[in-house]
Amino acid sequence: MSNVSSKSSRFTESVIRGMTRLCEQHGGINLAQGFPDFPAPAELKEAAKRAIDDDFNQYAVTWGIRELRQAIAAKMGRYNGVACDPETEVTVTCGSTEAMIAALLAVVNPGDEIVIFEPFYENYGPDAVISGAMPVYVTLQPPNFGFDPAALRAACSRSTKAIIVNTPHNPSGHVFLREELEQIAAVCQEFGCLAITDEIYEYITYDGRPHVSLASLPGMRERTITISGLSKTYSVTGWRLAYAVAPPPLTAAVRKMHDFLTVGAPHPLQWAGVRALNLPEDYYRNLAIAYAERRDLLSNALRSAGLPIFVPEGAYYILADISALGFGDDVEFCHRLVREAGVAAVPGSSFYHDPEPGRRWVRFAFCKRSETLREAARRLARLPALVEGTRRDR
Ligand code: PLP
Repeated sequence: MSNVSSKSSRFTESVIRGMTRLCEQHGGINLAQGFPDFPAPAELKEAAKRAIDDDFNQYAVTWGIRELRQAIAAKMGRYNGVACDPETEVTVTCGSTEAMIAALLAVVNPGDEIVIFEPFYENYGPDAVISGAMPVYVTLQPPNFGFDPAALRAACSRSTKAIIVNTPHNPSGHVFLREELEQIAAVCQEFGCLAITDEIYEYITYDGRPHVSLASLPGMRERTITISGLSKTYSVTGWRLAYAVAPPPLTAAVRKMHDFLTVGAPHPLQWAGVRALNLPEDYYRNLAIAYAERRDLLSNALRSAGLPIFVPEGAYYILADISALGFGDDVEFCHRLVREAGVAAVPGSSFYHDPEPGRRWVRFAFCKRSETLREAARRLARLPALVEGTRRDR
């Protein structure tokens, strides 16, 4: 007799975090997990240390300190075009990871369906299981990972509770265009369903591609839970700070879930979060410029190694097509790459509910120092020899 729940047996451990462990075993360069290997901004570290010294070390208000909620509301108005009330519409959470599960637990009833675009960030699968939602998948089609509006409409029904929209998108790097978001908005309104957005990469877009928040479109403010966070924008993935913004009745439900899941986000770091959200405009411009350079470095390395890629429009990942080198198994490829070349990446199948369409893809993260990426490039240059070796062995 097994003592573990049926829910826990319906998903596996994270493939991404598993690749990180494998990378450590082989002393590889970790281009698998999306965390920076460069320092967080000095002023944020100072603010966090000051808050601990000033003894902000006990529980904060469950839904986040007022100063941080006010800073989030100001940023939502300024950057996202979404006016919101910090008292009734903002919840500070332990990462977007918690915001997403709290949002789903807040809205999903038995029998409800949620629409997920695939490839998808791997947490959404387990999130559906934990919240009891039935996932329905809509495929983002290469080469640019847009979707077919007819397929989205066909995926929806009166059972659809929410469409999950992640833009800029992990793993593809697609940044949803305003027209695509308008198509999603029209479907939400036709079927009377919600949208839950994951905008964690909102400040990381390239070539002038604007980030558009779904909640800013007509008719969407009242039916959208907008999720974003500090992990990626301020290179503080370990701080576990994020937020959900939604109309008051939805926020009330999200806050209840958040309260009993975690009580609250780390109190001293919330003060540093206020400092983060008040950084000058230059900070965000420089962030995007630095990421564009890293993107170009890794794009060139992958192309030189013989891997065709989709050049990302946003976020900090590149999907490379391994079928061009004759590989048909993404998991085997990633295991060999870390073992034989010392570079860790993520098998594409972990971003699909049916692994098959993902077998040709491998995801590389470029949120790393340029020295790290240059060393990765040197190692990736061994790839053609590795392929040759495989051919000779056959
Ligand atoms: N959402 C997406 C699309 C991500 O790629 C990630 C991290 O890689 C997260 C959420 C997790 O964010 P957080 O650190 O705020 O939990």
